[in-house]
Amino acid sequence: MKRQLLLLVLLLLAVAVQSRAAGRDTYTVIVSLDGLRWDYLDAYDVPFLNQLAREGVKAVMQPSFPSKTFPNHYTLATGLVPDHHGIITNTFWDRERGVEFSLSNKETRSDGRYYGGDPVWLTAKRQGVKTATVFWVGSDVAVQGDHPTYWHDYQTEKIDFPGRVNEVIRLLSLPEDKRPHLVMAYFEEPDRSGHDYGPVNRFTRRALEYLDSLLSMMWTRIQMLPIGSQVNLIITGDHGMTSVDPKRFININDCLPQRWVQRACNDYPTLIYASAPQYIDSICDALQGVDHLRAWKRGELPEYLQYGHNKNMGDVVVLPDVGWLFDYKPSKKQRGSHGFDHTAADMQVGFRAVGPDFKQGYEKPDRFRNVCIYPLLCHLLGVTPSPNDGSLDEVRDMLR
Ligand code: AMP
Ligand code: ZN
Ligand code: ZN
Repeated sequence: MKRQLLLLVLLLLAVAVQSRAAGRDTYTVIVSLDGLRWDYLDAYDVPFLNQLAREGVKAVMQPSFPSKTFPNHYTLATGLVPDHHGIITNTFWDRERGVEFSLSNKETRSDGRYYGGDPVWLTAKRQGVKTATVFWVGSDVAVQGDHPTYWHDYQTEKIDFPGRVNEVIRLLSLPEDKRPHLVMAYFEEPDRSGHDYGPVNRFTRRALEYLDSLLSMMWTRIQMLPIGSQVNLIITGDHGMTSVDPKRFININDCLPQRWVQRACNDYPTLIYASAPQYIDSICDALQGVDHLRAWKRGELPEYLQYGHNKNMGDVVVLPDVGWLFDYKPSKKQRGSHGFDHTAADMQVGFRAVGPDFKQGYEKPDRFRNVCIYPLLCHLLGVTPSPNDGSLDEVRDMLR
């Protein structure tokens, strides 16, 4: 009798473990606050984000190189570093097609061929799990010819911040057979304020405090839903932000004769495409002699950057020191920037997570790489991840 009882308990436990692993009884909302530098959450008045640290997990996440918006949002979605997924920076030159990929070029930005890897909204959708985005880099592009179950076009649909919160609530309120198990939502702040006013400034502080109150309301509304206790909430971002100053400026034209350069995509890192192969060494030598710059030939970058092999890579990759600007003319307006070495302190990203799958009051002792978000989301959704550069083991300690 005792043995039968024990067997029954074991059977019930196995079923419970299996349904947890399947993950279909929980929902996950991931919010990206663009430019959420890790220490904003300690320096600014963000009671809700602090509450999440007490009730859930607090961590610091390392972006991938380069610490820019498009590369890192798409890394969060695919678990691949930018060199592997193809969005190698916000602006790059496609030699084969003779066109520039950039955020302002609608044609290339919306061309699914540039977006490699398998974004989580497709991984899950293929395995029968409904997914939704309220703006997320790549989700408004037909990647592999497809989109999430529900998505919005960043360029044509102007939804303000409270409207995005309403949309998250609406999606989670859909009837069960239509309800997405993954919702990914994007906010352009505090990146905008960080660029305009610098990371340490009262306007940037205000932007973050506003987001904190908005997300607090969102979480309260989520918890009032019938499925409230089944929802995991992750709040994180794509990269940090550092102070820049027009005085810390290096002019590209002072370093290189124009005739050596066919094209310089002067974002971070600056990708230089030589006008002829014989100039590549000269470009690299000239830039290596400039203070506050590092320059490498493609394929020769230090291993830790995991960068420089993509087919669209510039012949020379140039990276200024943190806080330095390398451009054709100094920007009088810009007070903050990012795109620098992804291991630098100011580029690190804040991370909070709360909900049934996360530990309570847990502070992760070491920072983790953002390529681990993809396997984490797949685990929470109970789907099999596609090959990626991350590891669930690196973030497993956050889970119950
Ligand atoms: P950056 O600070 O240069 O890395 O780029 C940030 C900018 O990317 C933000 O101000 C957004 O307006 C823009 N952005 C974010 N998501 C998208 C998207 N899906 N499509 C086009 N632009 C976007
Ligand atoms: Zn960004
Ligand atoms: Zn930015």
